[in-house]
Amino acid sequence: MVVIAAFALGAWRWRSLIALGAVFLAIAVIAGTALEGLACPRCRKPFFRSGLLHNSLSSDCMHCGLPKWRLADGSLSPAKRNLDRDLP
Ligand SMILES: [Zn+2]
Repeated sequence: MVVIAAFALGAWRWRSLIALGAVFLAIAVIAGTALEGLACPRCRKPFFRSGLLHNSLSSDCMHCGLPKWRLADGSLSPAKRNLDRDLP
């Protein structure tokens, strides 16, 4: 969204925003690629990627089906427990 806004405003008025948009785009691509490479705690394969298939919103491991926020033994991650506790 920020990238689109920067490109649109750059094309319309402020040329320097196009360069800023390109930087934001590069950051988004690098961060997205890093997230997709996160390994599943149970099968150690990429959680959100299986071959050519990518699903960043998947709620289960694309290899072994382990639900998101679960550890290798199937228990809920302490990080998720803390997140749920802190929410209003
Ligand atoms: Zn897995």
